[in-house]
Amino acid sequence: MAEQTKEYRATLKPEGVRGKSIRKDELREVPHVTSRPNAKYAWAAGVAMSRFLDELKEGRIVGRKCRKCARVLVPPRMFCERCYRQTDEWVELPGTAVIETFAVSYLDTDANRIKEPILVGVVDLDGAPPHCGFMHYFDEMSPDEIHIGMPVEAVWKPKEERDGAITDIRYFRPRRK
Ligand SMILES: [Zn+2]
Repeated sequence: MAEQTKEYRATLKPEGVRGKSIRKDELREVPHVTSRPNAKYAWAAGVAMSRFLDELKEGRIVGRKCRKCARVLVPPRMFCERCYRQTDEWVELPGTAVIETFAVSYLDTDANRIKEPILVGVVDLDGAPPHCGFMHYFDEMSPDEIHIGMPVEAVWKPKEERDGAITDIRYFRPRRK
């Protein structure tokens, strides 16, 4: 067994591979290697997701309702995987939610260390069943204030800046309504 492990380790350092091993202390200082390939790609979002993105552009969060199980699926799907049937109608959600889970992140989206943390997590949307929300940013609250179950509301970009993406919502802030 020990021999196998040694053999396996040897395969991780093949001869003739260029580059430099990272020391443990360097790993702490430079936590990552980033590469940004200029890859451009396109795909069809599908009927439900296309409508969802178009509605975001209008400042609305929509889901699909299945009348049989009475669930509103968000992000929407044209098929209810629980009832094994097509969903029935479009439903607009109020844009309010509670925080289901969150993280206070000292790494930005490129894994660079940052001084001011980003608040990010999952929202449990009002009008949708539990655990049926999506991931987003939180703001207008401090890392000390944020907590699971906190009532929040969507803050939208100005209409002219929206482009049919989940980032048309800037972030969720503590609910004022
Ligand atoms: Zn259903």
